[in-house]
Amino acid sequence: MLTTGAVAAARAAQNAAPKNIVISSANGLIACARAMQMLNAGHDTLDAVVAGVNMVEEDPNDTSVGYGGLPNEEGVVELDASVMHGPTRRAGSVASIRNIKTPSKVAKLVMEQTDHIMLVGDGALRFARACGFKEEDLLTVKSRLAWLVWKRSLRDASGNNNWTDGLDAPVPKKTSGLRRLFPDADDETLAWAWQMAVRPPTGTINCLALNPKGEMSGVTTTSGLAWKIPGRVGDSPIIGAGLYVDQDVGAAGSTGRGEENIRVAGAHSIVENMRHGMSPTDAGLDVLKRIARNFDNDRERLRKFDIKFYALRKDGAYAGVSLWKGRFCVNDGGAQSRLEDCVTLLT
Ligand code: ASP
Repeated sequence: MLTTGAVAAARAAQNAAPKNIVISSANGLIACARAMQMLNAGHDTLDAVVAGVNMVEEDPNDTSVGYGGLPNEEGVVELDASVMHGPTRRAGSVASIRNIKTPSKVAKLVMEQTDHIMLVGDGALRFARACGFKEEDLLTVKSRLAWLVWKRSLRDASGNNNWTDGLDAPVPKKTSGLRRLFPDADDETLAWAWQMAVRPPTGTINCLALNPKGEMSGVTTTSGLAWKIPGRVGDSPIIGAGLYVDQDVGAAGSTGRGEENIRVAGAHSIVENMRHGMSPTDAGLDVLKRIARNFDNDRERLRKFDIKFYALRKDGAYAGVSLWKGRFCVNDGGAQSRLEDCVTLLT
């Protein structure tokens, strides 16, 4: 139960004078800097965050977003993205879209140019094509290698795998199996690919912005869970889970295991918590507690995944919270963004 004081504080926060501020997941140092540059030049908050995350979507070295993102179990990259624009209270999203490097731009066009909010799969791709987007192979040499290593890491009950040497192959010399299979890859890439195979990663960028007029917007974009079943959609394109913006209150977004976020409608729950007077930190921790509760607070089961939330209130107060230890990115006006520690629920 909130005290009258807490509600009054929240109301005061809603009326406080804000300034330019951008926050994001920890992979957003350049995205936040780009978004801030645009805010400082007077651009719209949604244009700013989308331009910021486009840099990460187009970066082949970020293997959790856009071009170079790790593919599904069939080796096809499927991307999810959502946007929300506070001032017009509109939203757009795409899910399981293939062959387009910047799904956040497509989500924004779904918002601006259709009477719908969400397009998926082939329909989303056809819409992107109609809007003039170029189709491209989103696999890079590195992400293809990681996928092939993953396929070779799978074993049946006898320890066999169709993607390794046949039983009739000459007995290998004493070299590492992977080195033999991928002679051109360097050691560092092979070690990374093996880690990706045995611990399928998640990864995403969420970016939220506020300007001095108090306008807010947000975007979330991802290649989702590596090696997923084709068609799997995570939380990122789900309005209310991976992203939520309410111009009267604040914005929230998430990265990490999407399945757990969808079950608590994380971003929407956080914004509702802030509406009822909680600070961004308490609002986020409350939702993490609901996730932990879904696992009966069993630390051994919770240890198998992580999830983070980012919250930005209309007065500029912000927080990053995570189930386990983590960091998030902040830019409150400068050319450089910085990383801050998340407040963690579990240690
Ligand atoms: N939340 C994303 C998903 O589940 C992945 C991530 O953020 O790591 O698709």
